[in-house]
Amino acid sequence: MTHCLNCGAERTQDVCDACGLSSHAAEFVLRKRLLNRTAVFLLGAIAFVVTSGRYPALELDGILIFIGVLFFLTLGLAIWVERRALRHGEVEILKRAYYGLVPVPWLLAVLLLVNGAFDGSRPDVEPARIVEKFSMPGPVPIRRLIVTSWREGHGIERLPVDRGDFERFSSGESVDVRVAGGLVGIPWVAGVSLR
Ligand SMILES: [Zn+2]
Repeated sequence: MTHCLNCGAERTQDVCDACGLSSHAAEFVLRKRLLNRTAVFLLGAIAFVVTSGRYPALELDGILIFIGVLFFLTLGLAIWVERRALRHGEVEILKRAYYGLVPVPWLLAVLLLVNGAFDGSRPDVEPARIVEKFSMPGPVPIRRLIVTSWREGHGIERLPVDRGDFERFSSGESVDVRVAGGLVGIPWVAGVSLR
C-alpha cells in the first residue's frame, strides 16, 4: 500500500481513486510543486538575509548560522523527496516535513522585523571598546564591530552595523552601544555612538 504522490490518499492501483491521476501524472505534479515551494523557500532565505540588518539582533551571527544549517537541511530534504518520488516510493511524511520548513525563513524575517519595528522599550546603554572591525563585501555586505562584551560570560560581541557606523569608528575607541530588548524578547542593536 502506497500513498498517491499528488493527493496523499492511499492507493491500491495505478490510478488514484481520490484524485484520478496515474502514478506518473502524480509524480509530475509533485515535482512541479516541489520546485515551486523550493523557490518560495529560497526567496524567503534571501528575504531573511536582506531584512535581518534592519533591526539587527545582537546574536545575528548565531541566527545566520542557524538559518544556514536549516537552509541545507531543507534543500537536502527536498532532494530526498524528489529522489523517492522518481522511484515512486513513499514520500508522504518527508513531504509534509519539507512543506513545514518552507515558510520558516519568511517567519523568522517577519519575527525580527516585528521585534525591532514595534519595540517601544527604552534601549539600555552599554559601554564597550572596539577591539576589531570586520567586513565582508558581497550582494549583502557584512559589517561587524567586534567589541568588548558587557554581558557576563561573553568575551566579545559582534555588533552588526551599517556602513556609516562601520566607517565612523576605529579600533581602540570607546563606544556606547544602545541595546533594545525587542518586542518578542530578541535583543537588538539600536545604535552605536562614541562615548
Ligand atoms: Zn491522488
